[in-house]
Amino acid sequence: MTMKREYRLLTTLFAGLALALLALVGAVNYRSGVEDLSRSLSDAGTRLAEKLAQHEAHLTALAAVVRMAGPSDSVHGLAQAIGSFYPRIVEIATIRIEGDTATKVRYDRPVQTQSDWPDITSLPALATPGSTAIRSRPDDPRYDIYKLVSPGTYLFMTIDAGRLIADDVVPENDGYRISLGENRLIDHPVEAGALLHATRSLAVNSTSQPLRLEMSRGFRVSELLPPIVVLPLLLALAGAVRFLGEYRRAIRARRQEELRAALLEQETKLAHAGRVNALGEMASGIAHELAQPVAALLSQSQAAKRAMGLDRADILEQALDANVREAKRAGDILGRMRAYIAGGPAQIEAVPLERALTEALRLAEPDLTRRGIGLETVVSSGERLLRIDVIGFQQVIHNILRNAADALAAQGDPRISIRAEAAGKQAVITIADNGPGIPASALPHIFEPFFTTKPDGMGLGLPLSARLVETMEGSIEAENAGGARFTIRLPLEDTK
Ligand code: ADP
Repeated sequence: MTMKREYRLLTTLFAGLALALLALVGAVNYRSGVEDLSRSLSDAGTRLAEKLAQHEAHLTALAAVVRMAGPSDSVHGLAQAIGSFYPRIVEIATIRIEGDTATKVRYDRPVQTQSDWPDITSLPALATPGSTAIRSRPDDPRYDIYKLVSPGTYLFMTIDAGRLIADDVVPENDGYRISLGENRLIDHPVEAGALLHATRSLAVNSTSQPLRLEMSRGFRVSELLPPIVVLPLLLALAGAVRFLGEYRRAIRARRQEELRAALLEQETKLAHAGRVNALGEMASGIAHELAQPVAALLSQSQAAKRAMGLDRADILEQALDANVREAKRAGDILGRMRAYIAGGPAQIEAVPLERALTEALRLAEPDLTRRGIGLETVVSSGERLLRIDVIGFQQVIHNILRNAADALAAQGDPRISIRAEAAGKQAVITIADNGPGIPASALPHIFEPFFTTKPDGMGLGLPLSARLVETMEGSIEAENAGGARFTIRLPLEDTK
């Protein structure tokens, strides 16, 4: 699985987890809210049942008085007391049926008699004294209770259901509804703007007044998901996602680092293997190279010995000079070998362009002069600082000059011209000779190790130079322009 997919998957997982947690918090809050609603409903139901039981008790007491005393002052007194004490009981009356007419006597307020009311046919048919009936009308909060006191005599009581529910019974913001059969007596809807609603209802415990009480509650988002719970959760989620991002970046960086290290190691191994392979070839090269100076040393030393016997100081000196030369050559060969094989790190320092070149040339000049080769040097911006490994730089210049000198061996008026100048952030050094140039077929190969066109060449001078220049973050190129021309580019220090 790729890092990116892993990250996306984990982020989705976290988001899912957070959503699930939010849903859980919401569900728990909703559930506890609904439980609370059920509790409130049950409480309200109990209180309502108590009130309805009071109505029954009043009716029973009134019925007893009516039965004993008939419509009288005692009934009036009791009814008035009840009416003033219980504002929800809005009317108390007796209805008497005589023949086809009913006479209603109202007691709760100053006594009123209505002889033409109610229509006798609208009265509930009650057979057994003590039995009750209940009536309500659509869109009217009141309901009537009829109680048969004795044949032909009813007790009548009207209740305002709107006053049944006191403010403290139903929690604020909750809606409630009281209904009797099909008729809604009271309908207090719940406030709008809630996300979820819950409604619970119960039948109020009363045989005479079978009311139904329904309560509903709305749940707002802020109630279901209180910020105090949600905010920390969101913060935790943001933290987790951020952490994942950091983690992913860290892992990626580490992988890249590992990859780089592995590549580097491989490269180093390859380069080393290459050098080890080359070593075999080189061993024979060394044998071949050294055979000549060693043989020369031997013969010159023998000549020196003989010269000593002959007491010829001049021959002795010549032989010793030759020995010194051959020994130097052998040392030079070995030095180049070692440099090629070792390939140590460059020691970069900032050296003025002109000085670097002068010092490198000083080593080669005596040899060039001895061979009669003219050297012309033009340096501009010589004060600019070259970033080079001084020894490496000298080796490069030395190798190129040595090749040029070799190429000029059979040349009349041999000349080498060196130009150095700054070009932006680089120094460009060209070394050109007026020799025969590099054979076209050789040109693509001269920087390859062991490529040589010389009978006693080793083919290591240019590859070594190229490697050295590279370690200084520069480059080297060869072309033919009259003779051979080498162009070396090396970094310059920024001017301030
Ligand atoms: P070597 O000098 O041992 O041959 P180098 O790597 O120094 O090894 O040179 C590789 C080859 O490049 C030489 O053998 C020669 O053919 C060619 N070469 C280098 N410099 C010059 C030059 N100035 N003129 C002509 N040929 C050159």
